[in-house]
Amino acid sequence: MTKLIGVYGASGCGRGILPIIRAQYPDREIVFIDDGQSGAMVNGHAVIDWTRFLGHDAATISACLAIANARIRETLALKCDAANIPLIEARHASVVQMDDVQIAEGACLSPFVTLTSNIRIGRCFHANLYSYVEHDCRIGDFVTFAPGVKCNGNITIGDRAYIGSGAVIRQGLTIGADAVIGMGAVVTRDVPAGATVVGNPAKPLIKG
Ligand code: UDP
Repeated sequence: MTKLIGVYGASGCGRGILPIIRAQYPDREIVFIDDGQSGAMVNGHAVIDWTRFLGHDAATISACLAIANARIRETLALKCDAANIPLIEARHASVVQMDDVQIAEGACLSPFVTLTSNIRIGRCFHANLYSYVEHDCRIGDFVTFAPGVKCNGNITIGDRAYIGSGAVIRQGLTIGADAVIGMGAVVTRDVPAGATVVGNPAKPLIKG
């Protein structure tokens, strides 16, 4: 049985996820894993680095990846896989989930997230405060929703895409892998892989 849970990341994201894990697993010991803040105490929890976390018996530990950056989450998930450390889900008690939702391991579902029906979601999905996923969506691995994302029905989102706070995505669109949707964007057209779009209606970001 898992005795020690490591919440990977002791920064903003981790500090929002750890209390969710604490409520889900009141009888477990919970630490932050953070390679940059080892030795600190954060909100009453010890911070240890990965090497020290690995010093525990692998059969008794599990991790939750609480870092918003998808590439980092992907790297850390592979590290956990290689060490046979299971990735657990953080799910706030207020999360609403309807029928036929399949969600892979390691998600972080913040307060007031709603997942409606007939939805498929990949590994280590992050859905921050008040985001929703409507019916028949297909969401890849390591996708990140900032707070208040409105992901309407029949939308497909590729791996590692980042959807900014308050963005609205029109029903039926496809958002490519590694795309970035800016905060408050109103997305009315498909977004190609790797593209960044901002505004209303959302358009490619011209950097200059
Ligand atoms: N971090 C880590 N190992 C890694 C990459 C990141 O421990 O391989 C930690 C990093 O030290 C930092 C946290 O993850 O404390 C990420 O914090 P940041 O504020 O960048 O992101 P957020 O909490 O918003 O996701």
